[in-house]
Amino acid sequence: MNYLSTRGAGTGERHTFSEILLGGLAKDGGLYLPADYPRVTPDELTRWRTLPYADLAFEILSKFCDDIPADDLRALTRKTYTAATYCNVRDDESAAQITPLKTLGVEDGAPLSLLELSNGPTLAFKDMAMQLIGNLFEYALAKHGETLNILGATSGDTGSAAEYAMRGKKGIRVFMLSPYKKMSAFQTAQMYSLQDPNIFNLAVQGVFDDAQDIVKAVSNDHAFKAKYKIGTVNSINWARVVAQVVYYFKGYFAATKSNAERVSFTVPSGNFGNVCAGHIARMMGLPIEKLVVATNENDVLDEFFRTGIYRVRKAAETYHTSSPSMDISKASNFERFVYDLLGRDPARVLQLFRDVEEKGGFDLAASGDFARVREFGFVSGSSSHDTRVDTIRDVFQRYDTMIDTHTADGVKVAREHLQSGIPMIVLETAQPIKFGETIREALLREPERPAAFSGLESLPQRFEVVPADAQRVKDFIVANTGE
Ligand SMILES: *Cc1c(COP(=O)(O)O)cnc(C)c1O
Repeated sequence: MNYLSTRGAGTGERHTFSEILLGGLAKDGGLYLPADYPRVTPDELTRWRTLPYADLAFEILSKFCDDIPADDLRALTRKTYTAATYCNVRDDESAAQITPLKTLGVEDGAPLSLLELSNGPTLAFKDMAMQLIGNLFEYALAKHGETLNILGATSGDTGSAAEYAMRGKKGIRVFMLSPYKKMSAFQTAQMYSLQDPNIFNLAVQGVFDDAQDIVKAVSNDHAFKAKYKIGTVNSINWARVVAQVVYYFKGYFAATKSNAERVSFTVPSGNFGNVCAGHIARMMGLPIEKLVVATNENDVLDEFFRTGIYRVRKAAETYHTSSPSMDISKASNFERFVYDLLGRDPARVLQLFRDVEEKGGFDLAASGDFARVREFGFVSGSSSHDTRVDTIRDVFQRYDTMIDTHTADGVKVAREHLQSGIPMIVLETAQPIKFGETIREALLREPERPAAFSGLESLPQRFEVVPADAQRVKDFIVANTGE
């Protein structure tokens, strides 16, 4: 399997999976994609239907990472997808499923269900990919006797998923910047209570954007970056996307009895990483009817899928909402889909994303390209605080099921796209405990708390307060890498 850049296929540059594993953007500023999508055969679909999650992951990943020896890859997926890691769920049987499907009911003739993706260590779907990345990185670094210092900024979910994936991993340190005293007590405790010596929490005196700016400044110091082996694990990392392809297959098998059936998925979306994996599953031949993109008030993606206009937002136009992990001003993985939509024409992709930088967006409505969006199965919708709260309340009353704010955005938009006889699977992206304030507003009660998290907020915390100053963060990295 060869990988190319969405902006540069013309240059003939090709890479293996292992070569792009630890990297971010391609040199030309594009994103990596496989040169061709592997297709699944009817026989494979039949055989995969009954596989345990770890072995299904092996089958799918081996098509994309064929430069990793099969025995090694199988060992990695079996080490990653265990019931012990995905244990924050009602019973052992569900834990063994890794991503159990929870049936809600039938609405407008369509069976409606939730695919639970947030039973891992940080109670959000990002664990699904990040746990694999942790093991893949450790494996790849050990093979070449290398080390890596991961630097990142987080306002919550991504940072904690990265820390829980990398804790105790050989050859890896994590320096995670978060805005001091700006996260919820639960999120803060989740990150700062980690005592592993390879995890460093830096509480920046400022807001999330200050933390993000520091990461950019350090990354732009190329000499420092090379000397201290600085890397990232942001959402454009290809391995993260491909790890997410697996649960679309798992969800399909759980919701159907035969491979003649089709299903639709609704995906609460921000950076387009999760639903991009759904697009890839569909390109591989999984019988997906619709891919429903659900956004919150930050509706960049909904606007595109309704109108063909992609218009990134300025910081002042980006709202802080009660589904904060979807508060984005532009969707960093979107370029991968645009590349396929335009028939894989890197010159046009380059031009369009130059327009994004120079003019703030592009318009595909006039060209014939936008019409093809429906051929790829995409539709969309958006949600607001009021519809979110109403949906949490309605699902609780009707189905005795507590859902988080992001999943509620998914259910709200899914209901606008139901088709009789076609199962609709909403991806559950986080557990309610992470966003307790809105649960209390909607249900006038406390969110459910998995047993392992009782007393989390009173555990001792380990973090370093730093001013919003890139030099001070560099000094900290130097002092803690023993170079
Ligand atoms: C990250 C995240 C999302 C958005 O996922 P993308 O891959 O960025 O589209 C949705 N819900 C939750 C809870 C998240 O943490």
